[in-house]
Amino acid sequence: MAKTCIICGKEISAFNSRKLYCGDYGENLCPDCFSRYEGMDTLEFAEEILASGRSKHDDYYRDYIEDEKRSRQAALEREKREEEAFNSRHPEVGRCPKCSGPMLQYSPISVKLGEETILFSDLNRLMSGSLTVQLNRCRECGYTEFFTPNETELPK
Ligand SMILES: [Zn+2]
Ligand SMILES: [Zn+2]
Repeated sequence: MAKTCIICGKEISAFNSRKLYCGDYGENLCPDCFSRYEGMDTLEFAEEILASGRSKHDDYYRDYIEDEKRSRQAALEREKREEEAFNSRHPEVGRCPKCSGPMLQYSPISVKLGEETILFSDLNRLMSGSLTVQLNRCRECGYTEFFTPNETELPK
């Protein structure tokens, strides 16, 4: 039995038929349409299928489109909230000397001395206690600069 391309309506032989999936269903496409729609956003593909009027699963695609739009919108809003929260925790303090990206400030951290750490192994041999470290980090390349605001914590 000959199949019909869901997009253009052309008859396709079993040999030429290509299947493209969208959600729960696979639809038959002619090779031309397949090469245009392969890799396309499934939301757009579902809209094209509906617009063709040739699918047997219109209700399914309608729900699919609605759900997909709703969840994408929710994801965008969540991302925006997270971005705003991140920005308020990490004010920009200048541009990166390596790549000119934004340097963001992090809350001071207390580095425990008397233990081996990558940054302070030399200092550790001289002293114990802790050292307050202020970090600024480039959001683009990760370049990090640090400051030690409390001079009294450093070796004399
Ligand atoms: Zn076609
Ligand atoms: Zn950078």
